[in-house]
Amino acid sequence: MKRTAPEVLPAEGGLGDEPLLAVDDLHVEFHTRAGVVRAVNGVSYTVNPGETLAVLGESGSGKSVTAQAIMGILDMPPAVIPQGEIRFKGTDLLKLSDDARTQVRGQRIAMVFQDALSALNPVFTVGWQISEMFRVHRGMSKSDAMKKAVELMDKVRIPAAKQRVHDYPHQFSGGMRQRIMIAMSIALDPEVLIADEPTTALDVTVQAQIMDLLAELQRESQMGMILITHDLGVVADVADKIAVMYAGRIVENAPVHDIYRAPAHPYTKGLLESIPRVDLKGQELYAIKGLPPNLLDLPTGCAFHPRCPYRQDNCVTSAPPLYEISGTRSSACHYWREVLDGEQQ
Ligand code: SF4
Repeated sequence: MKRTAPEVLPAEGGLGDEPLLAVDDLHVEFHTRAGVVRAVNGVSYTVNPGETLAVLGESGSGKSVTAQAIMGILDMPPAVIPQGEIRFKGTDLLKLSDDARTQVRGQRIAMVFQDALSALNPVFTVGWQISEMFRVHRGMSKSDAMKKAVELMDKVRIPAAKQRVHDYPHQFSGGMRQRIMIAMSIALDPEVLIADEPTTALDVTVQAQIMDLLAELQRESQMGMILITHDLGVVADVADKIAVMYAGRIVENAPVHDIYRAPAHPYTKGLLESIPRVDLKGQELYAIKGLPPNLLDLPTGCAFHPRCPYRQDNCVTSAPPLYEISGTRSSACHYWREVLDGEQQ
């Protein structure tokens, strides 16, 4: 059913005091037969032009659901957004009409998905799929749109773009397909790019190349970027700041170097210790004990308490707020000081 909200599209150009994108106290629930799944529980973050926010967490932490809410691609129902705002240049996207939202999606906020093979249409050439963006949204002729497709394929460094524009998705390697997805996502010069696990299906060398490409494109265009990943190892050189999510909440927020130097939440600490290191060859790889919680039945108190090596009695009964450590840093742990000190010893 179409909403009838006024068409108040976010202004092109300056931002004033507003962040480029601000997710503010967002809640997302899924109403299922088994009960209400609280997938996102009060998430807040901001992204500014030229800035990269890495959103980190295991499967089910709510990082992708938050991104889908920003894009407006959640199936509603079963999804419900009972509370929160998603402000793009000061305009709450959740209050826009469906038509206005469609104009923002893909054009001003674009997304790169994890699985390029299933996101691309197997029966059309990649050139046709990229050029469609220009035909549909910019009203270009077929030949002009195809020229733009070749330019974009060059830009994302697909060799022999002029010839390969006529190939089908299955004729490309995984890394090249992801480059094509990136080309499609940046075709309309979006102001925000959301990359959801863009390198998960790729081998380590290709992962690094794709991350370098995303960083370079972002530097050129000054897009704001949200990089969603479960792997702290891939974000060190790319992100400006990190939001770590667990059980639908942000449990730590910090500039990237602070997190690597000294995490202030036991979960972040566990994620850092789980990164394979060449200097520890032969030693058993660290893994956080236990499993992510069932979102239908979250643990009492701190949701991380069943897995937490720092747990104290009050953690079982008292849910920690997001404690402010500094102007740019916060942690949802009652014992963040001990965690920080532990790192610094
Ligand atoms: Fe661990 Fe307690 Fe901190 Fe939760 S509040 S992360 S259980 S120490």
